[in-house]
Amino acid sequence: MATGTQELVRRKRIKRFKAEQKARRRKDLAPITFRDLEQQDLERDEDRRVREARKVGGCAVPGCEARHHAKGYCAKHYQRMKRIAAAQTITLGH
Ligand SMILES: [Zn+2]
Repeated sequence: MATGTQELVRRKRIKRFKAEQKARRRKDLAPITFRDLEQQDLERDEDRRVREARKVGGCAVPGCEARHHAKGYCAKHYQRMKRIAAAQTITLGH
């Protein structure tokens, strides 16, 4: 069942990707990759979950029932996010 939903999301994304490419060509903008679009979606999902978690005092990680600690996450996941952010900073070299 979950696979069916994912497939639907993927198909919708492909449709959106094609429309986006067309629009960009018309406006003479650099094309985006399907990966970019996927990444944008993930970030948007994450933002939405974080906002929701802050509102209800929970954690933005799906399936986590812990209480809100900071920035939309529980104490455990907030620590994890900090570690990931630090690792990304090192990888990007900033
Ligand atoms: Zn959590």
